Formats: sequence, C-alpha cells, structure tokens
Amino acid sequence: MAEVVLENICKTYGNSFQAIQNLNLEIAHGEFLILVGPSGCGKSTALRMIAGLEDITSGHLYIGGRDVVDMPPKDRDIAMVFQSYALYPHMTVFENIGFSMRLAGKKKAERRKRVDEIAKTLQLTELLDSKPANLSGGQRQRVAMGRAMVREPAAFLMDEPLSNLDAKLRVQMRAEIASLQRQLGVTTIYVTHDQTEAMTMGDRVAVMKGGVLQQVDTPKRLYDAPVNAFVAGFIGSPSMNLFEAELSQGTLQTPGFALQLPDTVLSARPELRRYDGRKIVFGARPEDLYDSTLASGRDHQAIPADVVTVEELGSEHVVHLRLDAVPVDSGDPDAVEELGGLSNAVARFEPASAVHARSRIDLAVDCSKLHFFDPETHLAIR
Ligand code: ATP
Repeated sequence: MAEVVLENICKTYGNSFQAIQNLNLEIAHGEFLILVGPSGCGKSTALRMIAGLEDITSGHLYIGGRDVVDMPPKDRDIAMVFQSYALYPHMTVFENIGFSMRLAGKKKAERRKRVDEIAKTLQLTELLDSKPANLSGGQRQRVAMGRAMVREPAAFLMDEPLSNLDAKLRVQMRAEIASLQRQLGVTTIYVTHDQTEAMTMGDRVAVMKGGVLQQVDTPKRLYDAPVNAFVAGFIGSPSMNLFEAELSQGTLQTPGFALQLPDTVLSARPELRRYDGRKIVFGARPEDLYDSTLASGRDHQAIPADVVTVEELGSEHVVHLRLDAVPVDSGDPDAVEELGGLSNAVARFEPASAVHARSRIDLAVDCSKLHFFDPETHLAIR
C-alpha cells in the first residue's frame, strides 16, 4: 500500500499564479523520496501542502489511506523537520525531544523510557541535560530528528534540513539521516535543491521545475536515462554537456567537428531515424569525454578541443574546454556559464592526464554514451 499519495494536486497563489500543476506522486510505505529542483520550482509548497501548512487548491491527498485534504496538520500523523530545527532554547535536549509526549499528557516515566531509546539511536544520551545553545549544528539537527521520531508518525517531512550546516557536517549528516531512515523504515519525503543530496540519500528522486514534475525515478535511472534536457542538466555534477548538431546519415555535424554514431547506438534508438537531415541536441557526461592519450582500450572518437583551465582535484582533473559547437541551455538556472563563456564543456580526466591550460588537444568522446534530445521540446530521443 502506498503511504502518501498525491493525486492531481494543484496550487494557485492569489488569482492566477500556479505554483504546482497536476502533481501526481505515490510514495510507498517506508520509502525515502527526495523532492528536488531549482529555487522556486514548488518543492517546499508541495511539502507544506502534505504537512497541512498550506491549503491545496485542487486534487487529492492520502496519508496511510486516509483522505487528509481537510484535516488539520496535527491530525495528519506526520512529523516535520525544518532547516531552522525549531528547538525550544530554554528546554534541555530531553525536554525538547519529549515535548510532544508531555503535551499528550504522557507520564514522566513513559517519557523517560521513550526519550532514552531515541537518544540512544541518535547518540545523544550524553547530551540529554544540555540546552540547544551548547550543541553543535549536527547535534541540534539530531535533536530535531529526535523530536520528529518520538511521535512515531506515519511519515517524516523534511525541508532542507541540512542547509544550515557547513559542508563537511552536511556530508556526514547526509549519511546519518539516510541510514537512520532505513533503520526506522518510516516513509520520508525530503526537500532539497542540492542534487548531490538527492542522488545519495533517496530510494527515488522526484525532479521538479516550474511547478511541474519532470521525472520520478531511482537515482541511477535519472542519471542514465533522463527524460528531458532539464533533468539531464540538473542531475550530475559537473552538469551534462549539451550541444546542437545536425544529424546526417548517422553523423553528428557541428561547426567544428563530426561524430559518426556507431551502429549499436543507431539501432538501440530507433527514434533517431526521424531526425536524419534535421537539428538535434546531444549530451555527453563529463566522464564520457576523456584524454585521448589515455584512451587505450576504450572505443572512442577524437575531436579537437581547446583546454581553458584544469582543476587538479587529486582524484581527478576537472578540465574546462572550448569545443567548436553551439551549447544548449538545459533550463537549469543554477548551471551558470563557465568562466564567463570562455569554456563551453567540462570533462573529468584521470589524474594521470598531462593536459594543461591554453593547449589544443584531441578529446576522446565515447559515442556509445551520448544522450539525444529533441531540439524544440528537449524531450529525450529513445
Ligand atoms: P526554494 O528552494 O527557493 O525554497 P521552492 O522550490 O521550495 O524554492 P516554493 O517555496 O514552493 O519553491 O515556491 C514556489 C513558487 O511559489 C515560487 O515562485 C514562490 O515565489 C511562490 N510562492 C511561494 N509561497 C507563496 C505565497 N505565499 N504567495 C505567493 N507566491 C508564493
């Protein structure tokens, strides 16, 4: 049975601004679903409607099989964790975690037992007598989780819970929340604008743009088979490189180079035939562009590229390149143009690569890994 079901949910602010359009989602019992998208895509609005903090303009919402559209938040059997944590500063960790039990009139002994169990799970036992002001960001985050857990809700709703933490702690808490969620098995809906969080934490990821759900899939499917150029550009870091080309008898032609698509690619994507003699958009992930001098054993074609800059990260080199082809905007506002437009492609090279800035190289392209999109609709060509 699906635990949280959204059916044709719409949200209009004021008279006409449609923040959410026909959102359909089924989140299974125990599933960890991530809602992700750029700022303003409607992900917080969607979560707040599930929580009951925002009215639903039209559509149906079920939690644990119950229609909750007209139900106040307190009756929906959900617990929300915010980025601000919303801890009571004058209360200890124990009191913060046990607060909802006290409100519900539970006896002290019962509260003590339950809070102790939760504190053990969250490794907060030593801190039960501390006040929030004396805790680190990560510890406060865990107390906020504890407050949600104590209520044993049907679902956890989390709105950017890690965005106030520094980068290192965020990575650590990311893993902690994901493992805690699996251990507890509570249906969880988690909102973030950070695609790395989305890809590493969830069972499935729902990508939104402009109030419209674009794709909901496992992280691997989103990465390997994005349904459109927006999802292709949004998921993955650095972003997928997208270029315009003319397709002619199986060859992609750009102003500066040609790539002959292997028969395996053409036969695996029958729709490509319809684009013969027409414009097309093709995409290459940064790891599918590599140093041709290190490409032995890999099936590739080489194209000319100017190296603009090389970021040596130790485990890999992120190489910013200029290709003689017209780049395509995926529509992700966060995908800023690299280096003021000097480069138009990014590749991830092995650290053994000796390429350096301001040189011209033969760039190896793995054509079997290319993605294709319609130039007008930006929908994937299968
Ligand atoms: P962010 O990551 O910036 O929080 P988001 O994806 O969570 O963005 P929402 O907060 O859900 O986006 O907002 C979706 C759209 O609805 C935005 O364009 C926003 O300006 C608009 N919006 C949100 N709340 C209101 C409101 N109370 N009245 C009018 N418009 C609103």
